[in-house]
Amino acid sequence: MREDYDVIVVGAGPAGSVAALNAAADSDVLLIEKRPEIGAPVRCAEAVPLVETPFVFHTSFEKYVKPDKKWVASEVKGVRATAPDGTIVEVSGEMFGKGDPLGIVLERKLFDRQLAKDAARSGAHVAVRTRATGLILEDGAVRGVKLSRLGEEFDVRAKLVIGADGVESQVGRWAGINTTLKLKDIESCAQYHMQNVELMDNTLDFYFGSSAPSGYAWAFPKGDGAGNIGLGVLGSKLSGKRPLAYLDEFVAQRFPDGKPVELMMGACPVSGALSHIVGNGLMLVGDAAHHTEPITGGGIMAALQSGTIAGQVANKAVRQNDSSVRVLREYETEWNRSFGKARERTYKVKEFVVNLSDDEINRIFHAFAGITAEELNMKGALKRLLRLDPRLLFSIRQFL
Ligand SMILES: Cc1cc2nc3c(=O)[nH]c(=O)nc-3n(C[C@H](O)[C@H](O)[C@H](O)COP(=O)(O)OP(=O)(O)OC[C@H]3O[C@@H](n4cnc5c(N)ncnc54)[C@H](O)[C@@H]3O)c2cc1C
Repeated sequence: MREDYDVIVVGAGPAGSVAALNAAADSDVLLIEKRPEIGAPVRCAEAVPLVETPFVFHTSFEKYVKPDKKWVASEVKGVRATAPDGTIVEVSGEMFGKGDPLGIVLERKLFDRQLAKDAARSGAHVAVRTRATGLILEDGAVRGVKLSRLGEEFDVRAKLVIGADGVESQVGRWAGINTTLKLKDIESCAQYHMQNVELMDNTLDFYFGSSAPSGYAWAFPKGDGAGNIGLGVLGSKLSGKRPLAYLDEFVAQRFPDGKPVELMMGACPVSGALSHIVGNGLMLVGDAAHHTEPITGGGIMAALQSGTIAGQVANKAVRQNDSSVRVLREYETEWNRSFGKARERTYKVKEFVVNLSDDEINRIFHAFAGITAEELNMKGALKRLLRLDPRLLFSIRQFL
């Protein structure tokens, strides 16, 4: 490892590896990861959409990464949502006349590692077991990272630093950016990877209601009788009972024969975007920038999107020999232009849905049960909701 680089990326999750790959086009890049192994342990249910989801993000996964059999655990051809009273609403690729996958369930241990390898292939130096412990700050600008590696403490300088250190990010805080999440803006999650679970092939299952207050439970197939069974509960609704206790109840009810082979706990930001994601010599990407999608808490797509833009802007800053906020703001502007409006709207939807009672969720599901391909658009959805209760128009007008 050298004493200075053009760019240091802290964290080798999807956001960091993609940022490093893009920045390495013309710059010397150091990508550091505190864990010994990239991709493990997995803190994710591992599903990503392949189709564009206009209400959420106007791009698809394949724009960033070409799916590779090596890290695709299962193709997703349908999505099924279950209400507290058992009413089911289903959407499948076949409804649109084609059987193309709507998404995939990843093998993130392999996927994250592949992205880091791609970054290395494009020239980035990757250092595992290397933890950022602080930033080098000079004249109001970030000029490098303080590192700890195998008991040794040392500084590495850089023209700019990209903070890709996930939901528990410290890089932003070290630079003076307020990254605190309110309890109402964080989903606290628990997940088992289980064997002996009967899941419908190629189908993502979601369960709503008070079994996961102001969140949802999921069961995602990974093939061969295995799957990710988990749930998230909004931080402000936890009141003493931990997500794992909710999960054990859910599993006992739905998957009594399932055998857990992995347990993980984690959190997803379901907040609005951070107001500042750049500073002099600094950009924040992925979960560190709270870029997850607020309704689902999914953040892989957003990590790829923000990492790509930030990496390209980093490269430009290095070429211009100017990593001031004036140049790096292009990343923030481009992110907001591409995804800002959708983010605002989905945050409002999230604020609406987290306050629904089980009865209200049941009624909404009744309205959508048997939805057809022709109705799978804003107009069709509105018609069904208004047939249920015209007063709903008042509640939902804010995100139309
Ligand atoms: C239970 C659960 C289920 C989820 N399911 C889905 C899903 O199905 N689909 C989806 O799209 N999203 C899902 N997400 C969210 C998704 O996992 C994240 O949004 C995504 O991983 C964000 O990528 P990232 O690169 O920003 O951060 P991470 O993937 O968190 O990567 C951050 C990296 O930084 C490293 N790091 C942290 N601090 C330091 C430091 N000081 N020095 C060096 N390295 C450091 C970490 O070890 C880590 O490797 C889920 C999250 C949870 C908790």
